[in-house]
Amino acid sequence: MSKRASRYDVLFEPVKLGPVTARNRFFQVPHCNGMGRVRPAAHAEMRGVKAEGGWAVVCTEEVQCYWGSDIAPFVEGSLIDDDDLPMHELMVEKVHAHGALAGCELVHSGHHTANLEIRTPPLGVAAIPVSDIHPVQARAMTARDIADLRRWHRQGVQRAIRAGYDLVYVYAGHGLSTLQAFLSRRFNKRNDAYGGSLENRARLLRETLEDTLELAQGRVAVACRLCVDELVGADGLERPEIEELLGMVGELPDLWDFMVGDWDFDSITSRFSDEGSQEPYVRGLKALTSKPVVGVGRFTSADTMVRMIREGVLDMIGSARPSIADPFLPNKIRDGRWEDIRECIGCNICVAGDWTNTSMRCTQNPTMGEEWRRGWHPERIRAKESSAKILVVGAGPAGLEAAMSLGQRGYEVVLADAAPRVLGGRVALEARLPGLAAWIRVVDYRLAQLRRLKNVELARGSTVTAGEVLRYDFDHVAVATGARWRADGVGRATLNPIPIAEGLEVLTPDDLLRGRLPAGDRVVLFDDDHYYMGGVLGELLAAAGKDVTLVTPQAVVSAWTDNTMEQPRIHARLVTAGISIVLSHSLISASSDGIRFACVYTGGEKVLTADALVLVTARTPCDDLATELAEAGQGPVVHAIGDALAPGTIAHAVWDGHRYAEEFDDPAAQDQDRIPFRREIIAVARA
Ligand code: ADP
Ligand code: SF4
Repeated sequence: MSKRASRYDVLFEPVKLGPVTARNRFFQVPHCNGMGRVRPAAHAEMRGVKAEGGWAVVCTEEVQCYWGSDIAPFVEGSLIDDDDLPMHELMVEKVHAHGALAGCELVHSGHHTANLEIRTPPLGVAAIPVSDIHPVQARAMTARDIADLRRWHRQGVQRAIRAGYDLVYVYAGHGLSTLQAFLSRRFNKRNDAYGGSLENRARLLRETLEDTLELAQGRVAVACRLCVDELVGADGLERPEIEELLGMVGELPDLWDFMVGDWDFDSITSRFSDEGSQEPYVRGLKALTSKPVVGVGRFTSADTMVRMIREGVLDMIGSARPSIADPFLPNKIRDGRWEDIRECIGCNICVAGDWTNTSMRCTQNPTMGEEWRRGWHPERIRAKESSAKILVVGAGPAGLEAAMSLGQRGYEVVLADAAPRVLGGRVALEARLPGLAAWIRVVDYRLAQLRRLKNVELARGSTVTAGEVLRYDFDHVAVATGARWRADGVGRATLNPIPIAEGLEVLTPDDLLRGRLPAGDRVVLFDDDHYYMGGVLGELLAAAGKDVTLVTPQAVVSAWTDNTMEQPRIHARLVTAGISIVLSHSLISASSDGIRFACVYTGGEKVLTADALVLVTARTPCDDLATELAEAGQGPVVHAIGDALAPGTIAHAVWDGHRYAEEFDDPAAQDQDRIPFRREIIAVARA
């Protein structure tokens, strides 16, 4: 184990937060996770693992404190009456068990939610449409409603204290809370004592802070999460008002948690921003309060963290995604275990869990969301149970993860890849695409681990055939040979190959990833994949001077990236790159005379002429090796994993590689009639 240099010691100084003390400066800020009130045991276990990994403070996601504000269908926290206490007590217990403080972020969502489940009109700062496009408007809160809201928040605080939390949030951030809506002239058009001047707009925030402090009574810390710039210019909150606001209430809470913009900016992906992107907005605010300040910035570099503290930008290193990718980040920095840090790649697959109301997963950390239900742990895996020898073919994300985890279990493993030098499969190639450089961390982390495992042999430049496998004495083979993009147009919009005439140059992402560019200048890119690939290849082609038209059957470009909160930025970037966009059209045929598309709604045809067609549609698993070995009827036990089993995201491939390693030598895992995970059963009400 290497030793950490003394310059990092500052990160391990305790920080006093009002009546409680954080053991170091690592603060897991509140973050959504798709588990919340629906999967509370899973949620508690996940938070507990972070406490075990060294975070000084571990918080919930947003937690509703009042029955009439309902964020459905999203799966967040709930503390609307005492029946909700047990799930919070469980989380607090798990967090305390590892010496961390537990924090609870209370929220009233106001006009941010349509109350889809409970059906009563949302209470908002004004009579305005709810922020999503649901055909619902909020009702403007009366003086009575404001008094109710204060009381509900107080009740929430009392419950949070009873649940054992050490820190309670007053939340005015992300454009998600009523307190922020009152504060911002963007939404607050009131002409009562709560509208108009900043002092009036800040009244509800100040009152809520005072209420919370009164109840906290020196027992629990009070944090305030504040949006310090709504990024809408003078129409909303920005620096001058925030400075004035801190002059009014800067000394009230025990901790300030400063964030910027809406959630899509707070959790901006690495494709659009580097580590520490909020620094320019937060820098200098700390000087306006004597209270400690926490802030985020997808911090994974200990040097950046130290700089944040030394330069007086922050007192505590806030983190959501880095704590998801590596729940043990603090302990690894503490122990100078630099190579063991699983750095967040900034892809927002975790965010997609929340947006799809499913347990959050993580590209880098396949155990995320599986801590309780499958018993997986990010740092521990059970020892081997036999002396089986395993060949893993393919060193993409699935093969790397499988070989690493099997190696950590103690098995003898050979990891073979056809690539002579650069391992990493699709990740090594995709990380070269515009904006995706940080994704190489998926490979870097695993190769660093593999280098240490004496029981895992790397065989570069070996194209493995079935005959070869049969000549060796492996007991098991994991075929992680990936997938290739189809060149026949088959995808979501069409399940049959489309007619493509000779003479038109047709390329797939595999061609572009390997450095081949279309010969001609005019390129039509058909994106029926809808995640990042179509957009980034459009960027790549435009940067190479091509005249690009991107066509998609969806109504927006890169439609699935709504779930990673990137879609509007991708659209803007494509437009800025000079790419023409044709929406809602599917491909029907292609030749050098014209590429024909049909409107998905009317069938109306559109013909584009181009020198080349790039097809970003579906992929075919490269599972020949698995099939041949299975057909041989002798030799080792064979399983295809990752994209070779079923093409998906990099997160899917990593997860599947991990699953293979976890289930190896587990007879129960082979029983398809047995559920391989624990479920949380919601009690059925009986009359
Ligand atoms: P996944 O996403 O499932 O991990 P990738 O496509 O990223 O899959 O990686 C597949 C890897 O498998 C590539 O690095 C490729 O070079 C390697 N590969 C494919 N076929 C063979 C083979 N027959 N022998 C050795 N390596 C192979
Ligand atoms: Fe980071 Fe991606 Fe994991 Fe989220 S899913 S924590 S962005 S690596």
